[in-house]
Amino acid sequence: MDFDENADLDTSSVDDLRGSGGGGGGGGFPGIRVGGGIAGLILTIVIGLLAGTHNLPGISGGSSTPDNTAIAQKCAKTNKDRFHDADCRQVATFDDLSGFWRTTAPERLHAQYAQPRFAIFTQSVNTGCGAATSDVGPFYCPPDQRIYIDLAFYDELASRFGAPGEFAQAYVIAHEFGHHIQTLTGTEPQVRRLQERNPSQRNALSVKLELQADCYAGVWAKGAAAPGGLVGTISQKEIDEALTAAAAVGDDRIQQQSGGQVNPETWTHGSAAQRKQWFSTGFSSGDPNSCNTFGS
Ligand SMILES: [Zn+2]
Repeated sequence: MDFDENADLDTSSVDDLRGSGGGGGGGGFPGIRVGGGIAGLILTIVIGLLAGTHNLPGISGGSSTPDNTAIAQKCAKTNKDRFHDADCRQVATFDDLSGFWRTTAPERLHAQYAQPRFAIFTQSVNTGCGAATSDVGPFYCPPDQRIYIDLAFYDELASRFGAPGEFAQAYVIAHEFGHHIQTLTGTEPQVRRLQERNPSQRNALSVKLELQADCYAGVWAKGAAAPGGLVGTISQKEIDEALTAAAAVGDDRIQQQSGGQVNPETWTHGSAAQRKQWFSTGFSSGDPNSCNTFGS
């Protein structure tokens, strides 16, 4: 696969929470960043204290967003080396996903599109789903409609599986974007309610949700792999490596516990074979309506 060197990237939906400065360090409240000066610093601390005491869903997705000038510059077309690093490849993939689903969700799924955000963090982050550390892997949080990724996850993917992993990285964010689509279509809240009513079906329902996100990733990949698409040709070998790696590393389901903590113990996902199968279903049809993992 090759990224389109001429692609103009839009970083307006990207929250780069890795930076120095602001209130982002040490698991504070990186979503809130106010201007410089003592007043700003105090406001940041007060908000940080509030966030530490209460879970405040939604604040991080509000109008205050981190300064992303640095990543906008780094990922600009003028930087010829931009796709050497995972962050700009991820931003490019996220951009492409946004453009794809902006038209596909209303046209094919009759779902009104809402733009999600993409947060890159290190170590720990406060989210609308509670506090999370990098250990949970990449995840999507429905209440704040944000995808969260610590790029160190990709080092783990590469070191454990020895794969170059560029398509694995694209697949991961496409899968998370799939969860956003499930939120837009109402499938995600519907499954949550079903799980509450039928605790014995909890895991089976979770698997279906995960497999549908894999299928949606495949639907997107077909467009991205078409001539003139973002990533160019994707080989079957790349697809196999990506899905095997993703399935083996584990799931990314985030559970909102009573204390607002993320509990990875409750993750459930399909087998590697199932994930490959559903990705392939989406990839060959190019139609999200083929992703009916809930049908019999
Ligand atoms: Zn998932």
